[in-house]
Amino acid sequence: MAKLYFNYSTMNAGKSTMLLQAAYNYEERGMRVVLLIAAFDERAGKGVIGSRIGLQANAVAFEPEADLFALIGDLSGDEPIACVFVDEAHFMTREHIWQLARIVDRKNIPVMVYGLRTDFQGKLFPASQELMAISDEMREVRTICHCGRKATMVVRLDGNGMVAREGAQIEVGGNEKYVSLCRRHWDDSMNGEWVAEAV
Ligand SMILES: [Zn+2]
Repeated sequence: MAKLYFNYSTMNAGKSTMLLQAAYNYEERGMRVVLLIAAFDERAGKGVIGSRIGLQANAVAFEPEADLFALIGDLSGDEPIACVFVDEAHFMTREHIWQLARIVDRKNIPVMVYGLRTDFQGKLFPASQELMAISDEMREVRTICHCGRKATMVVRLDGNGMVAREGAQIEVGGNEKYVSLCRRHWDDSMNGEWVAEAV
C-alpha cells in the first residue's frame, strides 16, 4: 500500500537535496515521478526545486487554492505516476495535506513530503501539524547546531543580523537569514543571549 511520508527538519539540513536524489532514483529506473512546489516560492525560479549544493529539477508549481488531488488526476495520463514529491511542505495549507492523503489512499500513489517542522518562533506550521497528525511515516532529516548538538529549531535573522522574535510565519524573498540551532541555543537566542559570532 502506498503511504504518506513526512520528512521533516529544521532549515539547511538538506531536505531538497534528499528529495532530488530520491526522485532521481525513481527516474533512473524508468519510473515517472511528479514534483510539486508552491508557486510563490521562486527562490530557485518559479516551478524549480533547488538545493544548496546546486542540484535542481523542474517541478509543477501550484497556487494556494489548487486542489492537488485533482491536479495529480489531470497529470496522470497513460503513464502511471510512481511517486509524488512535494518540497517546502510548510508553505501548504491543511487542505493540501488532506489532498495528498487522498492521492495516497484513492490513487495508491506514495507521496513524499519534505518540510520544516517549526517556524522561527518554535511553533508548528499548520501543514506540519497536519502532517504530524495524519502521515503514515515520519522521518527526521538531521543537521547540527554550532555546538555539535542536533539542531531542531530555527531562528530568523533580519537584514542587520538581529534575531526576529515576531513577524509573519512565512517570508519569502527578503534578505532575512535562517540559522538552525539546538533547543538550548535557540532558547538563549530568543532570550537575548544571541552570539552571532558563534555561528
Ligand atoms: Zn547548540
